[in-house]
Amino acid sequence: MPNQKTSAYYKEPGPKLDRESPFESMMERFRFAAELLELDEGMFQYLASPVKQVIVSVPVIMDSGEIEVFEGYRVIHDNVLGPSKGGIRYAPDVNIDEVKALAAWMTWKCAVVNVPFGGAKGGVRCNPKELSRMELERLTRRYTSNMLEVFGPDRDIPAPDMNTNEQTMAWIMDTYSMNVHRTETAVVTGKPTLLGGSQGRKEATGRGVVTVTLAALNKLAILPNKCTVAVQGFGNVGSISAKLMYELGAKVIAVSDISGGYYNENGIDIPAAIQYSKRNNNSLEGFPEAESISNAELLQLKCDVLIPAAKEDQISKQNADNIQARIIAEGANGPVTANADTILEDNGVMVVPDILANAGGVTVSYFEWVQDRQGYFWTEERVNRRLNRMMRDAFDNLFQLSEQHNITLRQAAYVYAIDKVAKTLKMRGIYA
Ligand code: NAD
Repeated sequence: MPNQKTSAYYKEPGPKLDRESPFESMMERFRFAAELLELDEGMFQYLASPVKQVIVSVPVIMDSGEIEVFEGYRVIHDNVLGPSKGGIRYAPDVNIDEVKALAAWMTWKCAVVNVPFGGAKGGVRCNPKELSRMELERLTRRYTSNMLEVFGPDRDIPAPDMNTNEQTMAWIMDTYSMNVHRTETAVVTGKPTLLGGSQGRKEATGRGVVTVTLAALNKLAILPNKCTVAVQGFGNVGSISAKLMYELGAKVIAVSDISGGYYNENGIDIPAAIQYSKRNNNSLEGFPEAESISNAELLQLKCDVLIPAAKEDQISKQNADNIQARIIAEGANGPVTANADTILEDNGVMVVPDILANAGGVTVSYFEWVQDRQGYFWTEERVNRRLNRMMRDAFDNLFQLSEQHNITLRQAAYVYAIDKVAKTLKMRGIYA
């Protein structure tokens, strides 16, 4: 058990946790792992604080000719394992606290899948829906130019996140390259393949979700072609996860998006649903051959695997007791709150945590960076094979750790990640 001093310290700082928000939930899990590892106070403090926080103002000449000033952020939570890695989001409510929490999340995610990166996150507080393409380009280029000292293929490598995409990464790459007087593709990932992006990157997160789902099914002795699946969210992660499970012979009994849920006890034709959604402006609204249900009902269906792949806080203390799935594979970030964890554990539901389950994206981002630096590009088959191997190894490693300490997979993920970063730091020492 942790000693008195450290144990008291973990509980001391900050306001009382509500355990129902994704960031507080993450901190709760961080504290649990720190206690189990008996981290000393100094190390705890080190890991709880980001190494660098940068706030810049981003002036942009709008199409009207007027100047508007936006606020931009980049937080490097940790770079002990290697250059830091994390997405950049554009949203009206982005703030430094959110970016700090998301950066820490990236540190643990990279450590869990043994990708040699630290964690970072960035953002610009803006409403991208109100900005023209030219305004978005000027905003991105000025933000990048203000971050030239932070970004770099050996320092800090951005990627797309909410409301940013391949084009945003292309602008960042170009702006950085112009300033260093050479083409530096490895400064960002999630680029178009034409500019050094990796094959298989778009499908990587969903593919990783499926790899760990198969590993979990295997532990419960359930065959993939005999299992039933429900998927919440039908965007990049949800639709790819559903499609790959369908191709493996699983019966996907329900899917959903923001328009609601669609249930068919005999199984949904996923390729048809993907086609339908594409033709229907990325919406499943009105999808035939399925019964309409709500998103809340979808979560509570009797099935073997539930893949929440929409947004955070979907399974909380309000509905955790009604979950009938045997496995939850977290495609989204933070879909299960810390309060729900306890209930699901008591009910014997195996939760494959987000920092493992959706780490396929960052894993193939790592492959993209490796390929850019080598100037040698892999086939999609090679990307997928290596992705499957890394995800599978990470699952096996955490499963073993969870059995060894009699803890959940989520707790094992945090214990492994925090231990890895702390041990690396100890070996490197504190530079004075
Ligand atoms: P996306 O925008 O492509 O798709 C989101 C889907 O969720 C859409 O179908 C949308 O209609 C649906 N949705 C939104 N609100 C909903 C609600 N209230 N109820 C039900 N459905 C709702 O996003 P994505 O890239 O698939 O990301 C989904 C989740 O996975 C997010 O939590 C994201 O942070 C996480 N994630 C994504 C990646 C990635 O590589 N794309 C990597 C790691 C984690």
